[in-house]
Amino acid sequence: MSLQPIVRAESLRKSFRGPSRGVGRGHAQVRAVDGVSLDVMPGETLGLVGESGCGKSTLGRLLLRLYEPTDGRVYFEEQDITGLSQSALRPFRSKMQIIFQDPYSSLNPRMTVQAALSEALRVHGMVSSASEEQQRIAALLDRVGLRPEHMRRYPHEFSGGQRQRIGIARALAVSPSFIVADEPVSALDVSIQAQIVNLLSDLQEELGLSYLFIAHDLHVVEHVSRRVAVMYLGRVVELATSEQIYENPRHPYTEALLSAAPEPDPTARKRRLLLEGDVPSPLDPPSGCAFHPRCPIAEKGLCDREVPALRRIEPGHEVACHLAR
Ligand code: SF4
Repeated sequence: MSLQPIVRAESLRKSFRGPSRGVGRGHAQVRAVDGVSLDVMPGETLGLVGESGCGKSTLGRLLLRLYEPTDGRVYFEEQDITGLSQSALRPFRSKMQIIFQDPYSSLNPRMTVQAALSEALRVHGMVSSASEEQQRIAALLDRVGLRPEHMRRYPHEFSGGQRQRIGIARALAVSPSFIVADEPVSALDVSIQAQIVNLLSDLQEELGLSYLFIAHDLHVVEHVSRRVAVMYLGRVVELATSEQIYENPRHPYTEALLSAAPEPDPTARKRRLLLEGDVPSPLDPPSGCAFHPRCPIAEKGLCDREVPALRRIEPGHEVACHLAR
C-alpha cells in the first residue's frame, strides 16, 4: 500500500449562514466542520461516525469539493484542489464519487437506468460509441448484482436495495478511485444492509477503491473499516484503528456510542455509558469541550473552559479529551 494518502484534509472548516441575529446585527454562523484534519489511504476504508448533525456529510462533501471550505485545504493524490475552478476540477471529478443514503432522491424518476448511467459516462467522455456505452452499462449492472435488462427500467420499479445498487453503478461508471459512501445503508432493511456492505467490500478488493464510509452507527462500519474517525459537533474527537476503537475506546463519546448501539453479544462490553440529551446546536456550541454537558466524567473548571486538542495517546490512536491517557 502506498504511503501517500489518496485524500488529505488539513484544518478544514465550513460555516454556513445561520438565522438572522436581528435588524442590523447580521447572521449567526453555523460551524458545521470546525478544523478537521485527516487522511484516507489508498485502498482503505475510513469509517466516519457520529450522531446526525455532527458534520459528517458536510465533511464528505468538502473532501469532494462539492462544498467550498471556509478555511483549510483539501489534497487529492498530493495535489492541492482547494482553490481549483470548476473547469480545473473536471479531471478530478471522475476520480472522486459519492454514493447517497437515498439513491431514489438522486435518481431522476423520468430517466431509465440506462439514461442515468449513460449521462455519467458521456459527461466524463468514458465511451466513444453507442454500442460501447450499452456494453459498459450492462457490465456495470452485472458488477453490482443487477441484470442487463434492468437498464430499461425506471427507478420506481426497483426495491430500496436495488436502487442503492444503481447508485453504486452510477458512481462506478466513471472509474473512480475514491468514493464517499454517505450513510449508504441507513435507509435499508437490516437484511439488505449486509448485502450492500459486502458488495462495497468486494468492489474495493476488485478495483482497489478507497472509501470514506459515513454512518451514525458504529457497528455498521465495524467490519469494513481499517480505521474509524468519530465526530462530535464538527470536530474529530477520536481517530484510531478499528481494533483500538472497538476494543479500547478512549473518548467518553465513543464509549457512549458503542453502548448505545445494539450489541450482538451483550456480555462483550461490561461498561455502559448512557448518552443523555441531544447534540447541542452548532449555532451555539458549548464552551470548552463541546461534549462536556453530556459527559459523565467532565471536570468542572477544565472541560467547560478549555477545548481539548486531538492528541496521540498511542501509535495510530488520537483522542481529543483532557482526561484520556
Ligand atoms: Fe468529557 Fe472533559 Fe474529556 Fe470532554 S474533555 S470528553 S468533557 S472528560
